[in-house]
Amino acid sequence: MEATILSDLWQVGGPGFTSPDDAAVYLVRFGEKAAIVDAGCGNGNESLKSNVDKYLPVGVEIEYLFLTHCHFDHTGGAEAVRDEYGCKIVCSALDAVYLEGGDSEVTAASWYGSRMPPLAIDVKIEKDEQAFQVGDGRMTAHQWPGHSPGSMVYTTEMEGQTILFGQDVHGPIHPSLLSDPIIYQSSLRKLLTFDADILCEGHFGIYRGKETVRSFIQSFVV
Ligand SMILES: [Zn+2]
Repeated sequence: MEATILSDLWQVGGPGFTSPDDAAVYLVRFGEKAAIVDAGCGNGNESLKSNVDKYLPVGVEIEYLFLTHCHFDHTGGAEAVRDEYGCKIVCSALDAVYLEGGDSEVTAASWYGSRMPPLAIDVKIEKDEQAFQVGDGRMTAHQWPGHSPGSMVYTTEMEGQTILFGQDVHGPIHPSLLSDPIIYQSSLRKLLTFDADILCEGHFGIYRGKETVRSFIQSFVV
């Protein structure tokens, strides 16, 4: 599978990369620092490490693990990633509650026949938007509620393009996940305003080109 999205942006986890249960995991490098977006469910941690090592030269430090939301297929492997790289885990304050509390229902761990061990979150985002300097680049977190109570998306600029890490743009919207269909719809409309050139999605892969990204997001707007 093609893992290189841009010269400093790679997919390193997901079905075909790590474990079939994993949502996509992305690695982004900004000079001497790097960040990972989401962590998979944890079953493919060894493959994840070897994929990361393939692209990241020794000496480049992974500073942050940015979680898009609390769901197990994105977060079950987070503790192992922090152990391996010593990075800080970032999540919205709203979803941090379910991770720190080890809630296997709201995190959907039970959907995977597993349980969510309590996960301490290092940086809890309460503001609507928060920027993180990472090496010579910047990642910006945006609240994107609806799919889960505190879903987030992240954006960055690379090679003159706006990259959007929108990991569960497609949903699902489900009562046991405490999804909110009305808020989800307004979040979808917010996503269109980013006018992204590349969408790194959680389960549907990479979308390239403003029109392609826009029409994928638009397809979930009712
Ligand atoms: Zn999800």
